[in-house]
Order: sequence, then structure tokens, then C-alpha cells
Amino acid sequence: MFDALAERLESAWKKLRGQDKISESNIQEALREVRRALLEADVNLQVVKEFIAEVETKALGSEVIAGVQPDQQFIKIVHEELVAVMGESNVPLAHAERAPTVVLMAGLQGTGKTTATAKLALHLRKQNRSTLMVATDIYRPAAVDQLVTLGKQINVPVFELGTDTDPVEIARQGIERAKAEGIDTVIIDTAGRLQIDRDMMAELARIKETVEPDDTLLVIDAMTGQEAANLTRTFHEEIGISGAILTKLDGDSRGGAALSVRKISGAPIKFVGVGEKVEALQPFYPDRMASRILGMGDVLTLVEKAAEEVDIADAEKMHEKIMAAQFDFNDFLKQMRLMKSMGSLGGVLKLIPGMNKLTDDQLEKGESQLKLSESIVNSMTKEERQNPDLLAGSPSRRRRIARGSGHSEKEVSKLVTDFSRMRTMMQRMGQGAFGMPGMAGPG
Ligand code: GDP
Repeated sequence: MFDALAERLESAWKKLRGQDKISESNIQEALREVRRALLEADVNLQVVKEFIAEVETKALGSEVIAGVQPDQQFIKIVHEELVAVMGESNVPLAHAERAPTVVLMAGLQGTGKTTATAKLALHLRKQNRSTLMVATDIYRPAAVDQLVTLGKQINVPVFELGTDTDPVEIARQGIERAKAEGIDTVIIDTAGRLQIDRDMMAELARIKETVEPDDTLLVIDAMTGQEAANLTRTFHEEIGISGAILTKLDGDSRGGAALSVRKISGAPIKFVGVGEKVEALQPFYPDRMASRILGMGDVLTLVEKAAEEVDIADAEKMHEKIMAAQFDFNDFLKQMRLMKSMGSLGGVLKLIPGMNKLTDDQLEKGESQLKLSESIVNSMTKEERQNPDLLAGSPSRRRRIARGSGHSEKEVSKLVTDFSRMRTMMQRMGQGAFGMPGMAGPG
């Protein structure tokens, strides 16, 4: 997602390169790029205006930091501002002191509300919080069945009264049931419409009044674009939301909705949906999203994903190495193995900047490229893997590796060059000068 924005910012960034101070004149071009990028990413116009104004004020008012290029400083300011707009830190789901915690799901039809209900239930189950899902969408054909099926799949009970009972009554009885059974959290799936609809809002408001939720989550499709701002405003004004779940972030690259939701409602995005499967839910981290917008890739998500597979200490070490540009070909091999153990290469690649636009065809090519790289690395000596610079200066070593791996010298040289370029790039990103929140510099 957000790759258009990442590319724009990169070019804005390039234009500042080589100048030693941020000034009113040299910043205009970069600001224009940021503005255009945000609009293209479907961020609401008003949100864009305010964002640009903030960035400009901060950039012009910022002190020149010795040793820091203005482009770096500019990107840092844009990053900080993105984080500020999307909320400072991850806000978890409400957890009431007295059970059950009641979570009300709201949103248009097709946004992924029912799916998100099940995703959330699974997420809570992993935290040992027992859940009851309540099916109040009596209008959409098979919505009740859909929730029942999902419930079976994740082994979470569903409360339903078919399609002939008033949704408010279903919700009320669902909570009674949860109380009687000592269930920790009730998630109420509600009916959506294809667009904002008086009756839908009125019904939601009635349900909300009756169940007094601890969390009212607006489920919003990341592909909604500009409309996200209006939807958020309407839902917030009519029923009041306390958070949002941004779904389908795995899809189209437009992510402007993420910026609009918080800015307009003040309510944090709590989770993001990244696929159709019930497991595809992640907490929303503004600083990571900002890094991703800036084209730094979602390194932390990548590391976290890896950490689910391997032990955390190992992953943290890897992250540090990446940021300090100290990682070598051994780490590269380790990462390759990890990627394989994580299953889909596509899913992992999507987290890397510039990679999220890849088609299946390109993914396949990427996969075979990785295999090629792996076999080349396998033909390196231990010393060469630990010290990639050895290869840059030695054609004879590269020739030997080419012979050993059965690939051409050109292919070996290319890998060595690409690898060293990547290290340099990461070094840049890892530099303390950025001071990116959540991104450890080399110290
Ligand atoms: P509802 O009408 O809001 O309850 O929407 P559903 O939960 O039925 O979801 C509508 C469609 O979106 C279904 O085909 C889901 O599989 C799909 N969907 C839901 N969440 C995601 C997501 O995060 N990513 C993707 N790619 N698809 C999703």
C-alpha cells in the first residue's frame, strides 16, 4: 500500500539533496510532491491541507542540525507529522473491569465487518479472553450463517436468533447470555448497507443505547479512499465511534483512509485487516505505518512476523543488524530460510517498499531470483559471507563462486553490487539522525 506516496516522497527527498539548508524556496517543490502524493493516495483534501501546513511550519522552524542533510530532516518531519496525524501509539481494544466487555461493530456492507468480528474473536482467544459473537445482521442474506460458519472455524460461540427478531433484542439477549456464561467479551456484528442509510443509523444508535458498548469500532475499507473521510464523519456524528478497523490493506495500494479516519474522528485505528483469512488481523502501529508511507518498508512488521516463527531475541538482533547495516550474507541466508518457513513469499514481499505492486508473474520471477541468490550465497566461503566487501574487490573470488554455483559471473557481480547498495541504503535509514520512533539506530 501507499507506494505512490512512497515514490513521491522519495523524489521530493531527492530534490532536496545537495542543499545544505531547508528554505522557503527549496521546500515548496517537496511540499508539492507530498501534497500530490497524499491526494493520489486518496487522503481527504482538508486533511491534506492541514497536513501540508503543519509540515511547512515545522520544517521552516526547525533548527539546522549539524551533520544532518536537509532532505533527511525534511523526511523526519514528514514522518513525525504522519505519526502525529494517525495517533501516537497503538491503542488496544477496550477491556472492561466488569465482564463482559462489549464491542460494537459498525460499518457499511462489504467492508469486512463480519470477517473482522471473527478476526477479533480469534485475536482475543489468543489472549485467553473468551468471546461470544452476536449476529444481528438480519437483512443481508446469509450474514447469520456466515458468522456461524466463522465461529465454528475458530471455535468461538455465536449467539443468533435467526432473522425474525429485532436486532436490538438479539443484541440484548446476547449480552445476557454472555453474563450468564461468564464470557469475557461480546462482539456484536451489525447490519451494514451499501451506503449511509437513515434506517441503518437509527438501528445502530438503538443497539448502542441498549448495549452501552465499551468500544464502538468503525470497520472501514482501505480502498474507500476519499469517501473514508465522509463515512467517518457521519458514523462519528450519528453514533459516536471509539476506534476503527481498517480492512483490506493487503489490496489496492491506496491508504489515504488511514490518515483521514483519525484526523476526522479523533478515534484511533486499532487494527488493520490484511487478508481474507481469520488470522489476517494486525494491531495498527502509526509509527510503522508512517515508515511504510515513507518507503522505508514495514521493517518492524516484517521482523514481528519473523518473530512469530523464530525466537524474538534472534529477530531483534536481526533488526538491529539491518538498521546498523551490519548484516551479512549469513543473515541473508537466515532471512531466506525464514521467509520460506513463513509460507507465502508474496505476503512477505508486500511489506517491502516498492514490492507491493508486484503481480503473480513478477512474484514468481522474484522467487526464482531469490533461489538464484541463495545458490550463489551457498557457494561462498564462510569468510566471504561474513565480509561481503571481500567480494566487491575480488574478481577471482566472484569467478570461483560463479563456477561453484553454476551461474554466470555477471549474476554473481550483480548480487554483490545489489547487496552492497542495499546495505548502504539501510545504513542511511538506520542513522540516528532520523530518530524514527520505534526504529533503533546503531547508537
Ligand atoms: P461485511 O458485509 O462488512 O460483513 O463484509 P464481509 O465480512 O462479508 O467481507 C466482505 C468481503 O471482503 C469478503 O469477501 C471478505 O473475505 C473480504 N475481506 C474482509 N476483510 C478483508 C481483508 O482484510 N482483506 C481482503 N483482501 N479481503 C477482506
